[in-house]
Amino acid sequence: MAVDLSPTPDVAELVERTTAFVRDVVIPPEERHGGVARTEDVRTELQRAAKDAGVFAPHVSHEYGGHGLDMRGRAAVFEAAGYSLFGPLALNIAAPDEGNMHLLEAIATDQQKERYLRPLATGEVRSCFAMTEPAPGAGSDPNALTTVAEREEGGWRINGHKWFITGADGAAYAICMARTSGTDAGKAGATMFLVDADNPGMRLVRHIDTLDESLYGGHLEVLFEDCRVPDDAVLGEVDEGFRYAQVRLGPARMTHCMRWLGIARRSQDIAVARAADREAFGSRLGELGMVQQMIADNEIDIAASRGLITQACWELDQGRSAAQSTAVAKTFCAEAIWRVVDRSLQICGSLGVSGDVLLSRFLREVRPFRIYDGPSETHRWSIARRVLRRHDTEVRR
Ligand SMILES: Cc1cc2nc3c(=O)[nH]c(=O)nc-3n(C[C@H](O)[C@H](O)[C@H](O)COP(=O)(O)OP(=O)(O)OC[C@H]3O[C@@H](n4cnc5c(N)ncnc54)[C@H](O)[C@@H]3O)c2cc1C
Repeated sequence: MAVDLSPTPDVAELVERTTAFVRDVVIPPEERHGGVARTEDVRTELQRAAKDAGVFAPHVSHEYGGHGLDMRGRAAVFEAAGYSLFGPLALNIAAPDEGNMHLLEAIATDQQKERYLRPLATGEVRSCFAMTEPAPGAGSDPNALTTVAEREEGGWRINGHKWFITGADGAAYAICMARTSGTDAGKAGATMFLVDADNPGMRLVRHIDTLDESLYGGHLEVLFEDCRVPDDAVLGEVDEGFRYAQVRLGPARMTHCMRWLGIARRSQDIAVARAADREAFGSRLGELGMVQQMIADNEIDIAASRGLITQACWELDQGRSAAQSTAVAKTFCAEAIWRVVDRSLQICGSLGVSGDVLLSRFLREVRPFRIYDGPSETHRWSIARRVLRRHDTEVRR
């Protein structure tokens, strides 16, 4: 049976416009700034241009000014936007805001949507998601959560230490995950809280110096010290934070894959152009077998990544949990995208290492993806456990 994976006509048209917008409007400033947007001027100018081009906020529902794409529609458009490091910022689909918009649309109250989602969807403000903690707190293992929220008259008091909070500098608010029941040793009952950045109990400690630099607003260490929030700062239900984290994390894993797949494709295009031009040993680089192998392996990794993303997105669009398919896709894509960028840099030789093309910047940007949204090892561990559970169930039948 033939399977038609082509996007619907309206998605195809948006992909075409996004591709042209990225090529003509986004890549020139990206190259001028070396792939790192450091000022609000750059962000607001890019977003204004995306609004003018009619490609802004493709993932948000029409009610909040977006195009209302489902996950498969997002896959095609986000890949086109991800062709430049500045593309996701321009379209307002960069992490962590894009994942936070998805979460707020899914679980926030109407009042919370007006106050937090609407200005985020228009790009008027930015946000951050505060889950990870320095050791011995939550990282790969969320049950190690040490940040605590205690009930008090009229609200909650949060105390905890977070780090690697992307975009915290300049964010209007944080979605903070804190323990509200359970013990350190057992399953934590966690709750998500909306904390305004001007809350005196929330303090930015420092920017962490990291390999990557392109995610806007940096990665920060953040302290919550007797941070008082009212009852209506609770996002969703008390003690349901881990369930909501899955609402955010499954799709957010896939949208990271989509965006970075765009960078993999760009890297391959740079390498192919070089292999077609550069002569060595009496032929073009592209006629040397080992260079052809790298080009072919890139093509295979890109196609396989896209296929796994499509499968996982289809399951998410069906309302399924897609836990296994998103874990498989995330693990494969994070490693395949790294391989593609690394091979592309190799094909370009010393040019690849230089700042004259952005490949060395891309390499630094994609490496941490094998750690955030779940390290490869954590995903392999849970993939294998699901396979073994399935085996045990089948044996018992
Ligand atoms: C660039 C970047 C941006 C980030 N942004 C955010 C953010 O905005 N908000 C936020 O809350 N967090 C953020 N994080 C944190 C990220 O989610 C964590 O780094 C991730 O969950 C892993 O936790 P950890 O770093 O504490 O690693 P640890 O939990 O200490 O794990 C270390 C290593 O142990 C191994 N390991 C882990 N589990 C297993 C297992 N089951 N089996 C075998 N080996 C295993 C893996 O090799 C893993 O890399 C970001 C991280 C990075 C690098």
